[in-house]
Amino acid sequence: MDTIPFLCGDTWCRAASGATFDSRDPATGEVLAVVPDGGSDDIDAAVRAARDALEDARWARISPAERARLLWRIAELIEDRADELAELESRDQGQPLALARGVSVGGAAEHFRYFAGWCTKLDGRVPAHSRPDALNYTKRVPVGVCGLITPWNFPLLIAAWKLAPALACGNTVVLKPAEQTPLTALRLAGLFHEAGFPPGVVNVVTGGPEAGRALVEHDGVDKVSFTGSTEVGRSIVRASAGNLKRLSLELGGKAASVITADSDIEAAVAGNLRSATQNSGQVCAASARFYVARARYSEFTDRLATAAENIRLGPGLDPGTQMGPLVGEEHLSSVDSYVRSGIEQGASLVTGGARGDGPLARGSFYQPTVFADADDEMRIAREEIFGPVLTVMPFDDIDEAATRVNDSQYGLAASVWTRDLATAHRLAERINAGCVRVNMVAGIDPAVPWGGVKASGWGREMGAEAIEDYTEVKSVWIGLE
Ligand code: NAD
Repeated sequence: MDTIPFLCGDTWCRAASGATFDSRDPATGEVLAVVPDGGSDDIDAAVRAARDALEDARWARISPAERARLLWRIAELIEDRADELAELESRDQGQPLALARGVSVGGAAEHFRYFAGWCTKLDGRVPAHSRPDALNYTKRVPVGVCGLITPWNFPLLIAAWKLAPALACGNTVVLKPAEQTPLTALRLAGLFHEAGFPPGVVNVVTGGPEAGRALVEHDGVDKVSFTGSTEVGRSIVRASAGNLKRLSLELGGKAASVITADSDIEAAVAGNLRSATQNSGQVCAASARFYVARARYSEFTDRLATAAENIRLGPGLDPGTQMGPLVGEEHLSSVDSYVRSGIEQGASLVTGGARGDGPLARGSFYQPTVFADADDEMRIAREEIFGPVLTVMPFDDIDEAATRVNDSQYGLAASVWTRDLATAHRLAERINAGCVRVNMVAGIDPAVPWGGVKASGWGREMGAEAIEDYTEVKSVWIGLE
C-alpha cells in the first residue's frame, strides 16, 4: 500500500525518518491507508514553511476580499467532494454516513463560509482617549503561525473549526491531525492546494503525540489551538511556556442532563439518547450523567434502556446503521474498563455492557449501555468515558441537582429538560458550563461561541470570539503637534 504524503510548503512529503503508521477501519480492523509518522524534523520544516508564508508578500498582500474568496472556494470544494469526504470520514473514524455527510462535511463547509464573511470585517477602532495632541487607532492583526492539533472524534469538522478562523484572520497554520484518523485532513490539504492558497499558508503533518509535542514546543509557533483530552491539555500548558505562545484549549467533558418532574419525558428520552449515542458517544458534549427527578426516575430509566436496546449498530457505510463502532480497540478497552468499574462499584447495569457480537465481533463495536442506582462518587459518574455509557441518578430538588451538576472538574456543556420557564432560566444561570441547552441537544453553529470552563478548557471557538482568539490588537499613536 502506498504511503499518502503530507503537505509541507509546496511539497508532498514522507516523514524525514521514513516512519509510517497505519490508519484502520474500526468497523473491520482492516488497514485503510499508510501515512507518514512525522516527527520533530517534519514539524520544524512545516513551521518554517508557515513562517516564510506569513512573511511572504503573496499572503500578506492578499486583500481581505481575496482571502474571503479563497475560503469560500474551500467551502465549494468540500461540497463538490462531499460524498468522497463523507465516505472517507466514515471509513476512517467509524461514524454513520449520514452523520459524516450532514454534520462533519456539511458543518465543515459552513464554517469556511461563515468565516469567509469575517475576512472583510476585521475592523479596529478609534478609542475616545483624552489626549488632544494625538490620534490613536487600533488594528486587528494576525497572531502569526498557528499550530492546530485535533482529536479523532470529528476529524474534518474540528479541523475546519480551527482552520477557517485562523486563515480568515490572516494567519498561517500547521495542522497536526490525530493519528487514529488522519485521512480527511490529508484530503483537505489537497483542496487548499487546488483552491490556490499560496504555498506554506496551510501545512498538514501527520504523526502522533511526538509530532504534537514538537509543534507545541516550537519557538516559531505563536499560538496553539488544541482540541483533545484534559490530560494532554495540561501538558500543553506546561510545554508552551518556552515562548509564552497563546493557547486555546477545548478539552474533555462529562455533560450532565437534568430531567425535572414536569418535563416531557418522551422528548427527554429521545433527545438525551441521541446526544449520548451520536458518534457512539465519542462527543465531548455528549450527555453522560443524568439527574432525574425521583418521581420520574424509573419511568425515564426504563424508557431510556428500551430505546437504547433498539439502536441499530453497524458499519458506518451501511445505510441502516444508527450507531457505528468506537474508534478502535484501545479505546474500546478503555470504555469497557469503565463499565466493569461501574459494576464493581455497585451500580446496576440495566442494558448493554458488552462489545458487539456476531458479524460485529471483528470491529470495535460496543453496545449502548445504561447504568442505574449509581452515585456521584462512582467513576462512571465522574470521569469522561467518551463512549455510549449512560449513568442515571435520581434527585430530590432543583438546588440539589444544580449543586451535583457543578460538582465536577469539567464544565463544557449541560442540558435541562423542563416545561417550567423559571426552572429553565434558574438552572441555566446556576450551571457552571460553557453551554447550557434547554429542551434540546447538540447546538453547534459557526456563529455561536463554543468552549468550556474549568478543566474543559480555555477560550472559545466559533463566532466573534474565535476572531479575537486568532488576532492581536495593535494600538497606533500619531502625534498631532
Ligand atoms: P488526545 O488528547 O489523546 O489527542 C488529541 C491530539 O493531541 C492528537 O492529535 C494527539 O496526537 C495529540 N497529542 C497527544 N499527546 C500530545 C502532547 N503531549 N502534545 C501535543 N499533542 C499531543 O485526545 P483524543 O483521544 O484524540 O480525543 C478525545 C478527547 O478530546 C476527549 O477528552 C474529548 O472530550 C476531547 N474533545 C473535546 C472537544 C471540545 O470541543 N471541548 C471536542 C472534541 C473532543
